[in-house]
Amino acid sequence: MSKTHSPEVIRKALSAGASVFGENKVQEAEGKIVELGRDGIEWHLIGHLQSNKARKAVQLFDYVHTLDSIELAERLERICIEEGREELKILIQVDLAGEDTKSGAAESNLPSLIEYLRSCERLKLTGLMILPPFFDDPEATRPYFKRLRENRDELLSGGELSMGMSHDFEVAIEEGSTIVRVGTAIFGQR
Ligand SMILES: *Cc1c(COP(=O)(O)O)cnc(C)c1O
Repeated sequence: MSKTHSPEVIRKALSAGASVFGENKVQEAEGKIVELGRDGIEWHLIGHLQSNKARKAVQLFDYVHTLDSIELAERLERICIEEGREELKILIQVDLAGEDTKSGAAESNLPSLIEYLRSCERLKLTGLMILPPFFDDPEATRPYFKRLRENRDELLSGGELSMGMSHDFEVAIEEGSTIVRVGTAIFGQR
């Protein structure tokens, strides 16, 4: 996760062999993506997407991990068509803890959201993502990872699981993560 890090730092990671980067703010990412380009680099949006940033997101990113409503999906699909964007990979952010402060689709809304995304021509649903509540003990996060995997197995067999950050990626991998979002453990403290 390259958020808060400069293009120079990302360049070093690139020359060390990394080619997949995550950014949480469209605005902040724009300069970096324009500077570093998109050839040979995969850019993932991992932060909440406001609808007024949807067009920029479509122009800049390969993946959006934070889709959480049919309204946002409609908007992204329409913009992909307008911008001539053939394919935008999508993960649904799921809010399993029911936290008011966090974005994410409620578990109960997943089936209808998945059905809607499957009807989209340009949006390619590739998996589920979770940003669980923070616990000092990574073991406390395990039930959320497990639950996300169960949802994936039930609703989206074979889909990606975007889960695990610097302090809990080991537990996430044990529970089946296919995309860990690691920032601090690679780049150091922000
Ligand atoms: C910053 C961020 C990460 C990475 O966090 P670290 O603790 O630095 O590894 C992962 N996911 C999301 C959504 C983030 O915003």
